[in-house]
Amino acid sequence: MSAAFRAARPIPAEAPAAAVRLEGVSRTYGRGAGAVHALRDVDAAFPRGTFTAVMGPSGSGKSTLLQCAAGLDRPTAGTVRLGTADLTRMGETQLAKIRRERVGFVFQAFNLLPSLTVGQNITLPLRLAGRRADRAWLREVVARVGLADRTGHRPAELSGGQQQRVAVARALVTRPDVVFADEPTGALDPDTARDILGLLRTAVADLGQTVIMVTHDPVAAAHTDAAVFLCGGRIAGHLAAPTADEVTRRLSALRGAA
Ligand code: ADP
Repeated sequence: MSAAFRAARPIPAEAPAAAVRLEGVSRTYGRGAGAVHALRDVDAAFPRGTFTAVMGPSGSGKSTLLQCAAGLDRPTAGTVRLGTADLTRMGETQLAKIRRERVGFVFQAFNLLPSLTVGQNITLPLRLAGRRADRAWLREVVARVGLADRTGHRPAELSGGQQQRVAVARALVTRPDVVFADEPTGALDPDTARDILGLLRTAVADLGQTVIMVTHDPVAAAHTDAAVFLCGGRIAGHLAAPTADEVTRRLSALRGAA
């Protein structure tokens, strides 16, 4: 087949709908007798425009899955795709660019820069990527997180919940393909946690954002479209439209089995 003919072929109908796809992903720390198999042959697809909770007992591989899916860690085997981009075949420079431009992060500890204002923290990913802020989008993101009157403040002048709102705005500002959230409500009281989960939920419902959240909290998981359970580094089940009660029941069963 000539190169010209190949180039003219239409895009296949089965173009991937997953924002993130893991195929046969394993991650082993250390070697020999002391090796820890944090992930074992994990297959998972996270559809675009959905909110997924990654759950499981402590040590089941949740953080490792998140780190591998976000291009922060490299699997020992298998492939990780962000859209059509295979992260496992990329060099460090390319990976750093992908993380900066196509991925957003929300951490338990907020991870804001204390010397920057709220506004500067929110636009930092754009500056790092050498992109100009789309003023209308920036206004919308700041309004959505309810911080329009706080953009000149420093993080230390805000409550924990407000700081996490800044982090959510920072994660959304580049319009990333996916937002990864690692225990985003772990440091917050229940009411504030509900606010933050509501924000992530509306980012999915209104903006079509894809959100993948590691959490140990069944109440947090009840805000998502689906929960994926890990146990011993393997996928141990899925639950669509999870309720807190059903998630609690599944987690207890997994802890019993672990
Ligand atoms: P979870 O987030 O579900 O608590 P992790 O992904 O943090 O689980 O860890 C899965 C397993 O991998 C655990 O046994 C943990 O001790 C191990 N692990 C994680 N990171 C490292 C590391 N850098 N070096 C060695 N072992 C690790």
